[in-house]
Amino acid sequence: MRPTHALIDLDALRHNYRLARELGGGRALAVVKADAYGHGAVRCAAALEAEADGFAVACIEEALALREAGIGKPILLLEGFFEAGELPLIAEHGLWTVIHAPWQIEMLERAALAHPVETWLKLDSGMHRVGIDADAYAGAWKRLRTLPQVAGIVKMSHFARADEPGCPRTLEQLETFARITAGLPGPSSLCNSPALLGWPQAKADWARPGLMLYGASPFPQPHEAVARLRPVMTLESRVIAVRELPAGEPVGYGARFVTEGPTRVGVVAVGYADGYPQFAVNGTPVAIDGRPGRLIGRVSMDMLTVDLTDHPQAGVGSRVELWGAQVPAAQVVAHSQTSAYRLLCAVKRVPLRYCG
Ligand SMILES: *Cc1c(COP(=O)(O)O)cnc(C)c1O
Repeated sequence: MRPTHALIDLDALRHNYRLARELGGGRALAVVKADAYGHGAVRCAAALEAEADGFAVACIEEALALREAGIGKPILLLEGFFEAGELPLIAEHGLWTVIHAPWQIEMLERAALAHPVETWLKLDSGMHRVGIDADAYAGAWKRLRTLPQVAGIVKMSHFARADEPGCPRTLEQLETFARITAGLPGPSSLCNSPALLGWPQAKADWARPGLMLYGASPFPQPHEAVARLRPVMTLESRVIAVRELPAGEPVGYGARFVTEGPTRVGVVAVGYADGYPQFAVNGTPVAIDGRPGRLIGRVSMDMLTVDLTDHPQAGVGSRVELWGAQVPAAQVVAHSQTSAYRLLCAVKRVPLRYCG
């Protein structure tokens, strides 16, 4: 069997969820969209179910997969519904839905539902992606309030730049949210992971942590607030071949790495089709049998190469950690023009193994 897998530490996941809720000061929906950012949504939700206040996913397909697996806690659809046909299912399965546009209110108004549904009415406070315009928000809230199809309304918004410490735009969004929702009763929800970690003034009744649950930093720069997170995924493989090369020899596609002196090259059974970043540069950190090492040469689809010159004990069968407990995902991100979000979501083909 190919010696490559991602180990998922469910104990670390629970630790990070508790931290998110502590920082948020209220309740927290664990965001498990995109297959829990590559960690397996069903297993992650099951591990959190006993203590999570609820879950959030992108769409009804993701929510129904969780329901089918026996997850009974509330599940919020972060983009709401895309067509009216989803509404009876939302009511039947007790799902919560975001309302981000007037056409969704109209559809809800025309729907015949077995039970009223919980709604989260999203304000566009400045991100300008989805959300009700500021000047239409109070009207939308009042209209929703009168509908028999609506059980409750949570006021919500989303930050565009919470991962930039001190960014005035986040303060402007906060101020807009406070001004537009003043006088509208009911709970509020603002924080994603970078806001929970970096913007305590944005605390509200409900938080929506995603990436931080998986123990990765949402910040592009080093940030002290991530020290308490525990990494959840460890991506690991093994050395499957060793090359002893003299100076001046190219390694791999495009000869991106050329040996400077006698070099031992280890070939590792993981590549970009598994989600390892294709454009990770020479020197990207790895751990070889627990010791710091480095990537050399271009990453292939199914393999990559590491420098074993300073690892005389290492050989075929040596364990290589690509990221995880020893190699922070943030370090791989910093060497490969990607983000922690995309790094984790890209993981595929490798079996996920669970512990904790
Ligand atoms: C994905 C998402 C989140 C979670 O964001 P993280 O940065 O991963 O914590 C929160 N809210 C909304 C609306 C989202 O789409």
